[in-house]
Amino acid sequence: MKMFYAGHWRDGTNQVQVANPYDGSVVDTVPQASPEAVEAAIAGAVAGAAEMRKLAGYERFQILRRAADMLLERQQELGRLISLEEGKTLTEGVFEVTRSAETLELSAEEAKRLGGEVLPLDGAPGGAGRLGFTLRVPCGVVLAITPFNFPLNLVCHKVGPALAAGNSVIIKPASDTPLSALRLVEILLEAGLPPTGIACVTGSGGSVGDLLCRDARIRKISFTGSADVGRHICQTAGLKRVTMELGSNSPLIVLGDANLEKVAAAVVATGYGNAGQVCISTQRVIALANVYQDLVELLGPRVAAIRTGDPLDPLTQMGPMIRERDAARVSQWIEEARAGGARLVCGGERSGTHFAPTLVADVRPDMRISCDELFGPVVGMTAAQSIDEAIALAGDSRYGLSAGIFTESLDAALRFAREVDSGNLHINWGPAWRADLIPYGGLKESGFGKEGPRYAVQEMTEMKTVIIHGL
Ligand code: NAP
Repeated sequence: MKMFYAGHWRDGTNQVQVANPYDGSVVDTVPQASPEAVEAAIAGAVAGAAEMRKLAGYERFQILRRAADMLLERQQELGRLISLEEGKTLTEGVFEVTRSAETLELSAEEAKRLGGEVLPLDGAPGGAGRLGFTLRVPCGVVLAITPFNFPLNLVCHKVGPALAAGNSVIIKPASDTPLSALRLVEILLEAGLPPTGIACVTGSGGSVGDLLCRDARIRKISFTGSADVGRHICQTAGLKRVTMELGSNSPLIVLGDANLEKVAAAVVATGYGNAGQVCISTQRVIALANVYQDLVELLGPRVAAIRTGDPLDPLTQMGPMIRERDAARVSQWIEEARAGGARLVCGGERSGTHFAPTLVADVRPDMRISCDELFGPVVGMTAAQSIDEAIALAGDSRYGLSAGIFTESLDAALRFAREVDSGNLHINWGPAWRADLIPYGGLKESGFGKEGPRYAVQEMTEMKTVIIHGL
């Protein structure tokens, strides 16, 4: 595919291959943007921001609404493309398209709601006889930098609110999965978006991404990806607004009164989706000692039964990991844990990008499979002696994106919600659950700022205060 900027589809001199993680076959190629292309994309987006600002909220609503419908019309085709470039199963790919349409629909609604507030100036000394109100205006040019693991919906979570708020957007998609983002651009143009309102420049984050982040004409960066890259972007961005949606090692606490059948179902559903490559995937199960061994025994066969294989086969439940080097890293972390005394309950085998669904018991909190972000199809289990210890272990992380607890006790659940510092907290389900309308974002090194269209438009607009004197 070509990239799109300054109102036109364009080629580059160097092409980058997009490979299918399942078998390494080439799905397509995209250009590597040159520094001149990046400059032209930014200049085009500056012109686009002026044009977008003139569009009425209702027109922005109509464009996004149409685009949401078009995503649904092309659900199967797009779901297949997501599966081919990312490696998730076709079922997961098609579901991602449904969610993407919902994200654009929610964004469309926000385009109609960008209001301000009247300020009660007569409540201030000397304020009588004046009228004050606030206005929300677009930031200008928004840069959306996205990761590989949800190549359509996470792009929609940035592009939808940015356009709803009247900005122009430059997308820098992940190099492993740029095709779904480029197809989204086609759809938005077909839905009537002014061509300079959107750009998608492809190429490596270290070159293309860095040039974009440093440029002062970009007023807002919305980044989703790893904490290391996020930290680098914060250091290079200069004086502009940033939202950071970063990684995690999400915990799930299981108390002694939990229904273990439900826990096992939740761990399978929230620990192995997209081969564990979900930022809120269940990584650490912390179970009280009186149910710990029973849970290990219940979970082992269920994890081993997760069916792996060709992502396009409707019977496949888990596809490959994105890159061989990441699968090799996961292997190495498991071997380190085993050498340190952890017990492999099932899985652990690797072949290229394919990693078997894995359960590891007797994990110590200082092992890398516990304290770092694993991002693979592995859940580690740790026993705790009390709720105090379980809550302390869950919170003992530099990350804080999502956490869960299984208990029948309302007191325990509320204590968990108050004491575990995490952006999302799930009671009686695993950490990997999200509806696209909720305020979503992390604490600590999991980032700052919220996504969810209603919240993202706040971060992609500026507030002005207007005072009329002498009334
Ligand atoms: P990544 O390596 O951090 O890359 C994310 C994006 O940043 C890619 O588009 C990448 O481009 C770009 N990038 C790399 N270096 C850059 C630089 N110097 N300047 C500007 N951009 C740069 O992450 P990933 O492997 O794609 O995704 C996995 C990570 O994303 C995990 O840590 C996961 O937890 C996190 N994530 C978080 C959330 C959330 O909502 N909190 C959601 C999903 C994923 P290239 O691809 O060209 O390198």
